[in-house]
Amino acid sequence: MAQSVGNSILDVTNLTRTYVSGDRRLDVLRNVSFRVEPGETVAIVGPSGSGKTTLLSLCAGLDAPSSGTVRLAGEDLSKLDEDGRARVRNQFTGFVFQTFQLIPTLTAIENVMVPLELRGQRGIEPAARRLLEEVGLSERLHHYPAQLSGGEQQRVAIARAFINQPRILFADEPTGNLDTETGHVVIESLFRLNAAAGTALVLVTHDAELAGRAGRVIRLRGGEVSQDTGPRPVPAASGSPMTRPDPETRPMI
Ligand code: ADP
Ligand code: MG
Repeated sequence: MAQSVGNSILDVTNLTRTYVSGDRRLDVLRNVSFRVEPGETVAIVGPSGSGKTTLLSLCAGLDAPSSGTVRLAGEDLSKLDEDGRARVRNQFTGFVFQTFQLIPTLTAIENVMVPLELRGQRGIEPAARRLLEEVGLSERLHHYPAQLSGGEQQRVAIARAFINQPRILFADEPTGNLDTETGHVVIESLFRLNAAAGTALVLVTHDAELAGRAGRVIRLRGGEVSQDTGPRPVPAASGSPMTRPDPETRPMI
């Protein structure tokens, strides 16, 4: 597997995304560049329509740029086919959506296990249970999404995003559908797991509290970076046994 250039977990260079419909051309992102180091926490902010979701999708390999490159964990996504991008995504990333995106027919713990079950892994229930405990849902393991509040559903989604021990977690407005109080609980869960696992966090938000918790803010305006407060030293991971099990038990691809 390709090694990182430097140690960046994410390296975005001159990224451009243009939509063409008929004879109209819309430059949604223009010449966006930044790097994210392991364990860094980055908030991407900007007005609605400024390209935040588009940028996150490109970073996570869910969309392809018009030009420019994304290196994720050292792999140039443009050199991979869809299967290759899926492999890199599954191995290195987690994703939290504004709308939770849980599977309605599965219980909380079953939802958390899905990413590893799809890879044929066994014996993952204890890890899923521990993650749900860490986000404060030990009493809700066997509830279905419809039996959970919005904040509880989002905490299940966060537990699911951490089950493969991602090196980078992307979250698109994770508190966007929640009231302030509930959003606060979700933010705490997100940053607690992030700090324990040393995962880099890249989140899109309108929420000032959430942006204020990030070590760095990148502001988009009209598809361009209008401000980047730059990297700050990353606090050492606390190495919680909950999220850093023995390397022997790390999922293999
Ligand atoms: P944000 O998340 O900052 O609100 P988006 O990245 O969702 O912004 O969208 C940025 C711009 O790109 C918007 O003007 C939006 O209408 C446009 N856009 C997004 N997706 C598409 C698409 N599939 N086709 C055409 N235009 C799109
Ligand atoms: Mg958006």
